[in-house]
Amino acid sequence: MARLILLGAPGAGKGTQAKALAALLQIPHISTGDILREAVAQQTPLGVKAKSYMEQGNLVSDDLVIALIKERLSQPDAQKGWVLDGFPRNDIQAAFLDKLLVEIAQEYRYAVNLEVPDDVLVQRMLGRGRQDDTEEVIRRRLQVYHSQTAPLIDFYQARNKLMSIDGNVSPEAVMDTLKNLL
Ligand code: AMP
Repeated sequence: MARLILLGAPGAGKGTQAKALAALLQIPHISTGDILREAVAQQTPLGVKAKSYMEQGNLVSDDLVIALIKERLSQPDAQKGWVLDGFPRNDIQAAFLDKLLVEIAQEYRYAVNLEVPDDVLVQRMLGRGRQDDTEEVIRRRLQVYHSQTAPLIDFYQARNKLMSIDGNVSPEAVMDTLKNLL
């Protein structure tokens, strides 16, 4: 059963790789960013609460994303595996996820860290032209990544779950490396 967590900075290619892997393995691609963007577009109560945080490049509150991920992982299609993209984003979320997965008896295989230098990340994000990808917001998102999300590399290393791979190559080359890990 394939259960993978994709770590890495915004712009590292998590979404692209998670989507391709999920399609290959026929398991859901669970992206908290996608779910939140959809909620904002639909103006659901979750979207209304999340909007301003996302627009500024800050993290949405842990309570909201934790409730969201708990609900998503309990759905029938998630019982056959998943690729998590964009969650966890800080140590509170990571500790919650570990506890939840024990409770629901789902063991993940790896947390895969896609390594990409900051200057490449900025260029990639400026290039994709997403609404929250203005230069100021991009810089804030990178700052948040380094202070809150990057420490998860040590979190998973300490649990012998970390797999770091070079994300500064073509998407096809990253995908080949990921396939070899499975
Ligand atoms: P992403 O598409 O993963 O880069 O996420 C886009 C935005 O959604 C982020 O900049 C955050 O504002 C928010 N977001 C996504 N995932 C999380 C999470 N796990 N915790 C908090 N905020 C999140």
